[in-house]
Amino acid sequence: KKASIGVTGLAVMGRNLARNLARHGHTVALHNRSEQRTRDLVEQFGDEGEFIPAYSAREFVDALERPRQVVIMVKAGRPTDAVIEEFAPLLEPGDVIVDAGNAHFADTRRREAALREQGLHFVGTGVSGGEEGALHGPSIMPGGSKESYESLGPLFEDISAKVDGEPCCTHVGADGAGHFVKMVHNGIEYADMQLIAESFDLLRGAAGYEPAQIAEVFRNWNTGRLDSYLIEITSQVLAHTDAGTGKPFVDIVTDQAEQKGTGRWTVQIGLDLGVPISGIAEAVFSRSLSGSADLREAARGLGGPARTPLSPLSGSEASAFADDVEQALYASKVVAYAQGFNQIQAGATEYGWDIDLGKVASIWRGGCIIRAKFLNDITAAYADEPGLPTLLTSGGFRKAVEDAQDSWRSVIATAVRLGIPTPGFSTALAYYDGLRAERLPAALVQGQRDYFGAHTYRRVDKGGSFHTAWATDDRAESTA
Ligand code: NDP
Repeated sequence: KKASIGVTGLAVMGRNLARNLARHGHTVALHNRSEQRTRDLVEQFGDEGEFIPAYSAREFVDALERPRQVVIMVKAGRPTDAVIEEFAPLLEPGDVIVDAGNAHFADTRRREAALREQGLHFVGTGVSGGEEGALHGPSIMPGGSKESYESLGPLFEDISAKVDGEPCCTHVGADGAGHFVKMVHNGIEYADMQLIAESFDLLRGAAGYEPAQIAEVFRNWNTGRLDSYLIEITSQVLAHTDAGTGKPFVDIVTDQAEQKGTGRWTVQIGLDLGVPISGIAEAVFSRSLSGSADLREAARGLGGPARTPLSPLSGSEASAFADDVEQALYASKVVAYAQGFNQIQAGATEYGWDIDLGKVASIWRGGCIIRAKFLNDITAAYADEPGLPTLLTSGGFRKAVEDAQDSWRSVIATAVRLGIPTPGFSTALAYYDGLRAERLPAALVQGQRDYFGAHTYRRVDKGGSFHTAWATDDRAESTA
């Protein structure tokens, strides 16, 4: 018997993906650069399903049914290229190579183009949900050709997370579309986490709540429109007490957030595409600021309000403030997601991908870190209006954000007054106000640009480009 799919790269992610496939009744060929991982998998989990261990590339390829489907789950970057170089010559036209690692979508585009020349399908696939997701059902975001999805899709849909009976897997779009969408997913994850962290900081710094009380506030929020995995785990982290010291867990952890780099990619690409994803950018920069230990040490004595409430809030005031923070968090979250979906749309336009944004929201409902009830509303918004320019103008979100805005503004004002940094909340509101503004001071910027660089400007009352002779007394205007 041959295997319907093979996995090469059997570290934690590859091993769990292979086990997930086998547990769903698929025969899985196994391969890893060093043989031990293959042997270990068969030894420890061989009874979970049908595995065909292979100890050479040739043996692995020969174990596969045609068209062969090879999933690569190795360290992203050079190792992925090395594995492709090893396997591609052994494959035949029509075979499929899947890269399920965290590749940059530009690498995926390059690899796809090169392998297409050889008649091979190359599918860059976003896989979200970490090792638990890989084993129990991840959100899967495959790119590549439509044809490759015909054979691969049923397998991936089978092992993906399910929500309301629907698989959290869809063919995202051609070549690098899957990895692009996975990248933006991670960027949105950064923004969401930052907004939740700011909410915590405000509830503690402005309302005077203790972490255990804030855990309760989050638990409560998790029963409403903010119902999500991130709110749930936040509540658990905040409720946790350090066994050794008896202190709240959040107080014994170094306040320097780390990052593996996909948030940074999202921001870099946002800049390249000219999409203002300020929520994601502020989240990435906030982690960088937190990690700038020497700089923070040097700046520690800088003047500003004390980080304690100006006048302690009464119980009912604190609870009203918590309600305001919930509104601010919700509105800021809508902005961050609106920006992220606009980035996916911009990527689709730039690279010629046909991406169904509502479907993307729906496959993030399970298996991944940003899984949330809220995503149903995004799917509905795009179903109502496929060409929606921004989530902010869709009926439901528009009303919710308009209703939230008094609280949103007041929370930010309080934060500013108390010196509590809320870059995520603030940039989200600035974006909202920027989008809805009748006139922006960009007109003045255009004037400045024309003054020092003769960059020209357009007029509101007639067509064409104009330049003003700023250096002359008459400042005559000419068409440019
Ligand atoms: P690692 O990223 O730690 O990679 C280890 C695996 O890569 C091993 O199988 C190793 O083989 C193999 N490898 C490394 N270099 C080479 C090479 N030059 N040639 C052949 N094989 C090589 O494994 P993970 O399981 O943590 O992650 C796999 C992929 O999944 C990565 O791209 C990672 O970014 C992504 N990932 C995704 C997560 C998610 O939530 N979606 C979470 C974690 C990872 P050997 O045993 O011989 O050393």
